[in-house]
Amino acid sequence: MTHTEELVSINPATLEEVGRTPVTTPDELDSRIEDAHTAFSTWRTDRTYRQGLLASCSYELMRKIPEIVPLLSMEQGKTAEDAGGEVWISAKCLAHNAQVEWDDVTAAPEAAGRTARIEHRPLGVVAAIVPWNFPIFLMMAKIAPALAAGNTVVVKPAESVSLVVGKVVEILQSVLPKGVLDIVHGGPDIGRALVEHRRIRKVSFTGSTGVGRQIMRQAADTVTPVTLELGGNDPAIVLGDADIDYAAAFLAKSAFFNSGQMCIAPKRAYVPADQVDRFCEAFATAMDTLPVGYGLAPGTKIGPLHNKAQIDFVQGLLDKAVAGGGTVVKGGGRGTDLPGYFLEPTLIRDVDDTADIVALEQFGPVFPVVAYTDVEDVLATLDEQDYGLGASVWGSVENAEKIADRIDAGQVWINQHNALEVELPFGGVKSSGFGREGGTAGVHDFLDTRVVSIKN
Ligand code: NAD
Repeated sequence: MTHTEELVSINPATLEEVGRTPVTTPDELDSRIEDAHTAFSTWRTDRTYRQGLLASCSYELMRKIPEIVPLLSMEQGKTAEDAGGEVWISAKCLAHNAQVEWDDVTAAPEAAGRTARIEHRPLGVVAAIVPWNFPIFLMMAKIAPALAAGNTVVVKPAESVSLVVGKVVEILQSVLPKGVLDIVHGGPDIGRALVEHRRIRKVSFTGSTGVGRQIMRQAADTVTPVTLELGGNDPAIVLGDADIDYAAAFLAKSAFFNSGQMCIAPKRAYVPADQVDRFCEAFATAMDTLPVGYGLAPGTKIGPLHNKAQIDFVQGLLDKAVAGGGTVVKGGGRGTDLPGYFLEPTLIRDVDDTADIVALEQFGPVFPVVAYTDVEDVLATLDEQDYGLGASVWGSVENAEKIADRIDAGQVWINQHNALEVELPFGGVKSSGFGREGGTAGVHDFLDTRVVSIKN
C-alpha cells in the first residue's frame, strides 16, 4: 500500500523537521480495530496473565527512558528533565494498574424464586484519543487501566507527537500479544472515524472542551459511552493567613511547568489586596530559577510552547491584558535567540476577572494575579465559571478546608497544586468533563455491569 499523506513533526524550539509518520488509511484503521476485536476474546479471560504483562510493560518502558527522552523533547518541546519524569510516571501508572484488584462477581440481594449474581466485565475495544501536552502519560492513563480491566485499545495521538507516541506503543507491543494495543495516526478525520466505528465500545478522550463536545456528539449515533478529560482554568486562592512566600514560590514552579501547557496548572491567583506586592515580589524571585531554552540543553527549565497557534493565542491574551491596564511584573519577552515558539515565564498584575487572560484557559507561561478584598466574591466568581478541573487553597489547613469545601472541582489541593498521583482518581466536573482516571476508579471506568439471574 502506498501512503500519499504524511504527518510532519516539527521541533518547536528550532522549527526543524524531526521526522514523518504516514497517516493511517481507512482500510488500515478497519483492520487494526478488527485485530483488537479478535484479541479481546482471549485478552479478557485471564487477569493474572494481564497483570504480569502490564508489569513487564512498565519494566520495559522504564528501561527505554534514555531512548524516549530525546525524541519526546524534540517533538513536544519539553525539557529533558520533564520528559524523563513523564515517561517515569507513565511506567509507574502501568505498574499501579498491574496491581489493581476488583471483584469480577459481586453478590446480588437474595430474592425468592431466583439466584442472581452481578458481574463486572470489560467492554471490548476502547478508543483512546490524546493531546500533545503530555502525550505519553495521558495515553498511559487510559491504556493501562483499560488493558488491566481486560479491554483491548486503539490509540490516536495528537498528530504533532506521532513519532514519540508511536515509539512507546511499539515498546509496549513488543511485550503484549498481537492486537491488544494498536495505534492510528492522523488528524480529526481519523479521530472521528475511530469514534464512530461500530466495533468501538468506549471512547476515552483527553483534550480541549470544544473537541470533547464534538466527540460526545459523534459517539451519540452508536450510543458509545465516553470519558472526557477536558480543559481547565484552575484558580489558586491565597487566604489572609497563608505563608505568602511559600505559596508564591510553589505557584511559580507549578504555573510554568511544561511551559504552562498543563490542564491542572494553576492559571491565576486570587491574593488579598494588601498582600499582592509581597506575593508578586516572592513569585518574581522564584522565576529567577526558571531559565528558558532548548529542552535538551543542560540547565533548561522552560522549553518553547508546542505550536504557533498556541503561542499566538497566549501572546494575544497577554497583549490584550496589558492594553487593558495590566502590569507585567516580570517576563514578557522570548528569553532566548532560538527561532522557535518561545515566551518566557510572565507574571502580570492589575487584572481582574473580566480580562480574557483570567477568564479563559490560557494554556501558556503567563500567570495573572487578581487582588481581592472579600473571599466571598472569589467563591461567587468560581461558582459561575464553566470549568471545574482543579483548584488550590493556601492558608491554615482549618481555614483552607472551609473554602475548599465550597469549590466545585475534580480535585482541590491545600497548600500545593499540580499534585498528581496515579493511585488517586483524577477528573473534572462541569465543562472539564466526566469519568475518572487513576486509582481503582480508573479501572472501574472501563468495566461494565451485567446481571445473570437464574430461575430456581
Ligand atoms: P484537542 O482537543 O485539539 O485535540 C485532542 C485530540 O483530539 C487530538 O488527538 C486531535 O487530533 C483529536 N481530535 C480533534 N478533533 C477530533 C474529532 N472531531 N474527533 C476525534 N478526535 C479529534 O487538544 P490539544 O490542543 O491537543 O490539547 C490541549 C487541550 O487538552 C487543553 O484544552 C487542555 O486543557 C486539555 N487537556 C486536558 C487534560 C485533562 O486531563 N483534563 C489533560 C491534558 C490536556
